[in-house]
Amino acid sequence: MGYRDRGVRTASAKLKLERMMFNKRRTEATSRAMERRQRENEAPRLKQRITKLSELRLDIEERIGNGPSVASRHIRRIVVEHAPAIFVIPCSESRCNDGGHDLTSEIMRALSSEATEFRGEDPCYGHVGSTGSGSCGRVLHYQAHAKYD
Ligand SMILES: [Zn+2]
Repeated sequence: MGYRDRGVRTASAKLKLERMMFNKRRTEATSRAMERRQRENEAPRLKQRITKLSELRLDIEERIGNGPSVASRHIRRIVVEHAPAIFVIPCSESRCNDGGHDLTSEIMRALSSEATEFRGEDPCYGHVGSTGSGSCGRVLHYQAHAKYD
């Protein structure tokens, strides 16, 4: 192993590092998605916890701060038979790091009491920008509709 080899190796390591930096954001997003899937796979099934639950739908709106403007809106229909007992909704702001909403405990609590209509909100504590100084500021509002046997 001579100096020349080491030079080549360093250059390729540098290139590799640059490529890694370039892919860092995407890789982080991918690994977050993988972690989420893993958590979902390992979580108990919703139907085991809330045996009477037959239908669940979440109407989700993300607002910017406390203002009225809606940044994103979607409906999540839960496949009760197969869904995990976990409700983690990623932040829809594409520049947001470490954000998202873990609604698991409050939704499970409401379902345990067989609530048919309930709502809640959760601010995102993620941050935007490369310095990580700007907070995301998105606030998720949800309205849940549940049916029981
Ligand atoms: Zn966010």
